[in-house]
Amino acid sequence: MHAKKILVVEDESELIVLYDEMLHDEFKVLTAATGKDAIEIFDRENPEIAIMDIHLLDISGIEVTKYIKNKSPDTIVIAVSAYGEKLKDVLEAGASTLVQKPFIVKELFTLIHDLTQPISSIESQAQINLEGSNNIPSSLTRIAFDAVIENMGEGSLKILLKRSGLDRYIGNLPPYDDSPSITRDEYTKIIQNVFYILGEKGAKPILYICGKAGFKHSLEDNPTLFGVAGVAMKLMSENKKKKFILTKVLKRLEEIFGNPHILEEDEENFYVKLPLCPYCKGLTSTKPICYTPIGFYEEVIKWATGKPEKVEQIQCKAMGHEYCIFKIPK
Ligand SMILES: [Zn+2]
Repeated sequence: MHAKKILVVEDESELIVLYDEMLHDEFKVLTAATGKDAIEIFDRENPEIAIMDIHLLDISGIEVTKYIKNKSPDTIVIAVSAYGEKLKDVLEAGASTLVQKPFIVKELFTLIHDLTQPISSIESQAQINLEGSNNIPSSLTRIAFDAVIENMGEGSLKILLKRSGLDRYIGNLPPYDDSPSITRDEYTKIIQNVFYILGEKGAKPILYICGKAGFKHSLEDNPTLFGVAGVAMKLMSENKKKKFILTKVLKRLEEIFGNPHILEEDEENFYVKLPLCPYCKGLTSTKPICYTPIGFYEEVIKWATGKPEKVEQIQCKAMGHEYCIFKIPK
């Protein structure tokens, strides 16, 4: 079997040495220090993967990425940059992800492996998990897709859908109603891919916004979804309001996601405990990473009391804890 070819486009010579050391056991490593060289080598060798420094001395790495993806849509491009501001641009150009310098070499290596895993095997995993699982209402799925488009552009949603085996939604977004859309396992798969593609830093704001928008827009687009439309809480104390609305919303989330959402409280706080958390399933981390429910609960509380409140995740299954636990102050 032929070793896959990987083209490293990088103008720092020490980094090229590092890449070569890390990759040459498994790949045929080709290197280019300028955009012009990169295009020449690409045309000649047609590599399966390219690691692309965005800041080159001649042509920008974004232009080189566009050139590559235009000629060979299947080539995986991993963009690398010392600056944070270009994520949207590189994804629009067709790169699969952006890695920030300085990076940990081992992380990049893992990423290359994840991204070069054939999509068909990801799809078949998703297929196996389908049985017995119910579907997420279209409006929630659509709101999440909208949040990705708004923050990352349409190109990124396309990459995300492709990697998640959800090609059926490319150019065909679900409606804002109760009809069934993706399965619970597909929902989890999307979150996993958001982490794989964007890294923890990039995933955090998107997932948080998805949670916020998930509640906020449901009230506009699909007011019956969480069963809170028209509830009268005027005469309740603030804590009664919080408890009343959390109980209602959590019950609905249990139905939608098919797993327990336990509400507990002490003198100072409410706690939502998830023994089976769909937001961090299959992921490991050294800090809590379930950003969607944080955004969601914050929006719920703001709606109920009219006051913004910080929700904090104090335990996470991705860290090895038994539950994901969210703390909501009284
Ligand atoms: Zn979790």
